[in-house]
Amino acid sequence: MKLSELKTGETGVIVKISGHGGFRKRIIEMGFIKGKVVEVLLNAPFKDPVKYKIMGYEVSLRHSEAAQIEVVSAAEAKAMSNDEAENNEPLSKTVDSNDTDDKMLVAEANSRARVINVALVGNPNCGKTSLFNFASGAHERVGNYSGVTVDAKVGHAEYEGYKINLVDLPGTYSLSAYSPEELYVRKQLIEHTPDIVINVIDTSNLERNLYLTTQLVDMHVKMVVALNMFDETERRGDNVDFDKLSELFGVPMVPTVFTNGRGVENLFHEVIKIYEMQEGDDPHYRHIHINHGHEIENGIADIQHHLKNENDVRQRYSTRYLAIKLLENDKDVEKYIKQMPDAKEIFEHRDEAAARVKEETKEDSETAIMDAKYGFIHGALQEAQYATGHDKDTYQMTHFIDRVLTNKIVGFPIFILLIFIMFWVTFVLGAYPMDWIESGIGLLGDMIGEYMPEGPVKAMLIDGVIGGVGSVIVFLPQILILYFFISFMEDSGYMARAAFIMDKAMHKMGLHGKSFIPLIMGFGCNVPAIMSTRTIESRRSRLVTMLILPLMSCEARIPIYIMIVGSFFAVKYQSLVMMSLYLTGILMAVIMSKIFTKFMIKGEDTPFVMELPPYRFPTTKAVCRHTWEKGKQYLKKMGGIILVASIIVWALGYFPHNEELDTQAQQEQSYIGKIGKTVEPVFTPQGFSWKLDVGLIAGVGAKEIVASTMGVLYSNDDSFADDTEVSDDGGKYEKLRQQIVSEVQAKHGISKAEAEPIATLTAYCFLLFVLLYFPCIATIAAIKGETGSWRWASFAAIYTTVLAWVVSAIAFQIGLLLI
Ligand code: GDP
Ligand code: MG
Repeated sequence: MKLSELKTGETGVIVKISGHGGFRKRIIEMGFIKGKVVEVLLNAPFKDPVKYKIMGYEVSLRHSEAAQIEVVSAAEAKAMSNDEAENNEPLSKTVDSNDTDDKMLVAEANSRARVINVALVGNPNCGKTSLFNFASGAHERVGNYSGVTVDAKVGHAEYEGYKINLVDLPGTYSLSAYSPEELYVRKQLIEHTPDIVINVIDTSNLERNLYLTTQLVDMHVKMVVALNMFDETERRGDNVDFDKLSELFGVPMVPTVFTNGRGVENLFHEVIKIYEMQEGDDPHYRHIHINHGHEIENGIADIQHHLKNENDVRQRYSTRYLAIKLLENDKDVEKYIKQMPDAKEIFEHRDEAAARVKEETKEDSETAIMDAKYGFIHGALQEAQYATGHDKDTYQMTHFIDRVLTNKIVGFPIFILLIFIMFWVTFVLGAYPMDWIESGIGLLGDMIGEYMPEGPVKAMLIDGVIGGVGSVIVFLPQILILYFFISFMEDSGYMARAAFIMDKAMHKMGLHGKSFIPLIMGFGCNVPAIMSTRTIESRRSRLVTMLILPLMSCEARIPIYIMIVGSFFAVKYQSLVMMSLYLTGILMAVIMSKIFTKFMIKGEDTPFVMELPPYRFPTTKAVCRHTWEKGKQYLKKMGGIILVASIIVWALGYFPHNEELDTQAQQEQSYIGKIGKTVEPVFTPQGFSWKLDVGLIAGVGAKEIVASTMGVLYSNDDSFADDTEVSDDGGKYEKLRQQIVSEVQAKHGISKAEAEPIATLTAYCFLLFVLLYFPCIATIAAIKGETGSWRWASFAAIYTTVLAWVVSAIAFQIGLLLI
């Protein structure tokens, strides 16, 4: 509990003190040291200050200050030890002197104090998640481009008898209020005040990575730097006296390689050492002030002078940090300072300093601060004899590969080729395991058919569960292959190049190159893709990216594509048709994005750096794990929403049941037939039959359900049983095709030969509709979550459906003219 929560007369033992370095130092100097017993002399609620007795004398603190001190109270400790006593021997109950009470308290406080909260902070792609996974054994996603980690993940590790709680934060280049991620990390550091920050650095990119370190130094957090990717710098033959560098920064630095765990023990050893404040006068552990030049420093001092009068501010922030942020024109900090009584003077000081900087250097103060920081880094590196080697340059390879892959002329064709190969392998190779699963499912169905008594349960199992889930689950191999490719491209670093190549094109759409990665991810699943838009700094680009994401054809749509493309088109055209769907989605995304950026969503674009991480050959383990993690989600969905939906769709088609009727007639008079018939007029311009309409309605939950519903609706139709003309050698979905053809035949009263092209057109338009309409409930919820408003979520739901209706209607009508 917090010290502030102790009541008058109660005692507690101090566990730890949170808050930034300056605050801790002050409190510790007052005698509030870990393990010490503190007694509350007077604590009136809402009344400052609170009086304490510590180490024999009286001290007063404010409530808010006491709230930053964690203690164990006598009551808490007693409860704990009673628990233990019940479990062990009841003997200890007799002991009740004051002295032992205090001992117990101290023991409890000591054991609690062995929990260290550590936050991982660093640029994107520097290895934070790798450390997190290595230390905690968690299986977080490790990717090779920015934006993989979008939320804070918590994991646990144990070292030297300490329990370490690790928080993996999103990657950031700085701590300005520029992107949602930077703000998020800043908030975490201030509001959740970790005991220790591990600043992970990509040592092969030292200069740029140290920029964030300088900002952390300003914040005055307790930290350890992990000089990660040390293997790469060694391979390249870089030289750096990291001990010297560490001394210059006043921060311990430990060389590490998180892919194999090298240095992790040392790193945690340092964490514990700092936590326990065993560092003494060692210059490797001290708070330094980075010199920002005369004018800026004067400004900082003037501003700090005012801030120091504000106790609340002083507790939460390092005043120096706030002053620097204010001079950087940080909007968030400005808002915070505006509420203070001295706001006017503070802003005057700021403007005065800024004006002087402008006069002298012709630069604004923000740039001046940045320059000063880089100057500091440059100087420190010089002193640490930093030199990049050329022995065996890992980047040389990267540069060479990049010359080809990002080349103006061949880059784009290579990209298209790779994407084409990806889909080709997915569909062509994926067909083999698909056949095996299919025959397995067929066998299962036959077995149930043979051994189970007739009745609704059997019908539900065969037509509902096997017909529904079975028709979707066969696509698992395809999905795994597709994910394997995406994971490989992500992990190897090619995805970032793809984004780079696409940057220009994305700008034409009014978007960022950075929007491209979420869009590609959208081919897998829209939900994580929407979350990954958090890396996009500009709010406008981010919003537009989220809105057009549903047009990216996700894996959930593949089952229905394969089902229909496989049965209506000759093998040699199949990949082409498939491509056309994906391309239509992309084309629509381009058009919609243009419309949105031009007419609806205003705002300016912020410039950004496009990261090109060095190529790495991803480990088989990593790629397989990422592939499997995604596959697992697919299976989960299968056992959940798709299973339920299949059974519901089956039940709606089975009831009310009439044994007399043949399957076709039975379905038409069932509930589902009624629902389908009711909405049928809406889809007249597309020529969809009621069965297709039902598929679309069911697909609102998740798009796989379109396929599983079709599986249920068409699998139990035996009206062709006597038709000798119909053979089954046209492929596994031959039945589906024949039924759609006969539906068209019946509708227009035309011959089979005439109906066939129309049926094919209908089927294609159906796919267009599935591609474009209402993404799925999970995606809409994700958009709501990310934009924070139902307005945009419902907008996405409505505009996609209208678009789907319009495009499929136009396609059908034009198609009819051409046939
Ligand atoms: P994050 O964005 O900071 O979370 O970085 P990740 O943990 O996702 O790592 C990015 C990439 O760097 C992955 O491909 C890792 O396998 C790789 N990586 C991480 N640490 C090291 C290291 O010490 N050496 C090398 N060579 N690669 C590393
Ligand atoms: Mg990460």
